[in-house]
Amino acid sequence: MYKSTLDYAQQLDKEDKLAHLRAQFHIPKDKEGNDWLYFTGNSLGLQPKQTQQYIQQELDDWAKYGVEGHFEARNPWMPYHEFLTNSMAKIVGAKPLEVVVMNTLTTNLHLLMVSFYQPTKTKYKIVIESDAFPSDRYAVQSQLKFHGFDAEDGLIEWKPREGEELLRIEDLEKIVDEQGDEIALLLIGGVNYYTGQYLDIKRIVEIGHAKNCMVGIDLAHGAGNISPELHDSGVDFAAWCTYKYLNSGPGSLAGLFVHEKHAHNKELPRFAGWWNHNKETRFNMRQPFDVMPGAEGWQLSNPPILSMAAIRASLDMFEEVGMEALRAKSEKLTGYFEYLINQIDTDRIKIITPSNPKERGCQLSIQVKNADKSLHKKLTENNIITDWREPDVIRCAPVPMYNSFEDVYRMVETLKTLL
Ligand SMILES: *Cc1c(COP(=O)(O)O)cnc(C)c1O
Repeated sequence: MYKSTLDYAQQLDKEDKLAHLRAQFHIPKDKEGNDWLYFTGNSLGLQPKQTQQYIQQELDDWAKYGVEGHFEARNPWMPYHEFLTNSMAKIVGAKPLEVVVMNTLTTNLHLLMVSFYQPTKTKYKIVIESDAFPSDRYAVQSQLKFHGFDAEDGLIEWKPREGEELLRIEDLEKIVDEQGDEIALLLIGGVNYYTGQYLDIKRIVEIGHAKNCMVGIDLAHGAGNISPELHDSGVDFAAWCTYKYLNSGPGSLAGLFVHEKHAHNKELPRFAGWWNHNKETRFNMRQPFDVMPGAEGWQLSNPPILSMAAIRASLDMFEEVGMEALRAKSEKLTGYFEYLINQIDTDRIKIITPSNPKERGCQLSIQVKNADKSLHKKLTENNIITDWREPDVIRCAPVPMYNSFEDVYRMVETLKTLL
């Protein structure tokens, strides 16, 4: 159905109802002023042009009001995080009560494990994917050690089968069937950062809950990319960063989800600070700790407004476009990318990401036989920004917000000549 010509790619761009969004982003350029072909929105999303004005508003109000900005600013800082909640909840398929923006991803994972990793002497193990992102692995290992367990003995890896790249849900089922009595927690990446595989979150939750294991999902590569329906999945908790597909700037704050079923459980162990104390009495400063219901009950500190302003700028764009339209374009864009790569006449290339659009987001992980990092370097010299993972994988994420069909076409044309 697709065609491998520049004309055809440009035609798809003309028909694309979201094509105008690209002009609302700063696209990095080379010295001659040509746009880079940017395929690393899975690592750091590009900057929306309106971000500057959102941050400037808060700088102006800080200049104008000082501390009074907490109440007098156009967007008062005291409840500022609440301005992000509804849009963020929609993006991950949650109720507003279940979501808050705070801290950074790995910090949130730790705070969530304080509450949801409650090991006993016999039920203490944690399951992760063998290709889990290093930060998640280190976080989990350190939690095991913190509770006095051996990190090696306590960690169970869900691995692809010999000779395969992708995870099979039956294999997780087998692990939990056989060892569930020893497993306290499954902490799984909703979309795997390496292969781009989008796992069936609801199924993972069923498998975990059948053996009384808590289930947490890392959505770093999911938020703003796929529509995970967190509430309906029944997952206990989740966390994600906002600087990848959510375009909120380097090191920006993260999202946290705690399912409604835990929202009013004041007995859950958790760390505390003044920001998860009851809003009504927070400034009386003398009350005994009274935890807030819902995800807000995991906050500790008053949050950085400048970073939240950048998140707001981006979420307002998502709110306007909607995940449904983004997903529809994304499937087409990545489908076209896949088609073009499969047209290349070589046996050196293999896409390891699932070909079923329901089992992936926008990223394709392309394995290139007998390649080394010099291929990545040559791509970069040709203005093509991708991510290289040893030993031989290029991760490319055409993002529906700002990548075009022409970007994808040009990328594959260059890749062909470099092979
Ligand atoms: C990007 C990413 C991280 C990064 O963690 P930070 O705490 O934001 O530095 C962690 N886990 C996964 C799965 C990621 O994709």
